Amino acid sequence: MHEWAIADNLVKLVAAAARREDLESVSKVVIRVGALQQVVPETLEMAFRMMAEETEIAGARLKIEPVLLKLRCRNCQTITTGNDFVFTCQKCGGVDLEIISGKELYIDYMEGEKKGT
Ligand SMILES: [Zn+2]
Repeated sequence: MHEWAIADNLVKLVAAAARREDLESVSKVVIRVGALQQVVPETLEMAFRMMAEETEIAGARLKIEPVLLKLRCRNCQTITTGNDFVFTCQKCGGVDLEIISGKELYIDYMEGEKKGT
């Protein structure tokens, strides 16, 4: 499943970042996920929690900030937004659309405790 593969990657990235930053523990990880990623937030959060359990970032909670799909029509320049797949311009019905946002998947920030403080 898609979400498990993403969670696996995230856990590795966060664990590497935690080592680099010399963190004792990680409490929260915030990621931004575009609508086109078609991620089920509950599944991804659960997968992340379970996979993190086996690592030094056990206990970390994942928070997902959804990013809306935004498309700009190359015909009339109107911007169409949606939570789901929309591939036609809401104004002129054109299909020549440029994706402005909705493909993202990255770690925004994380919170944790430094070692020895
Ligand atoms: Zn248009």
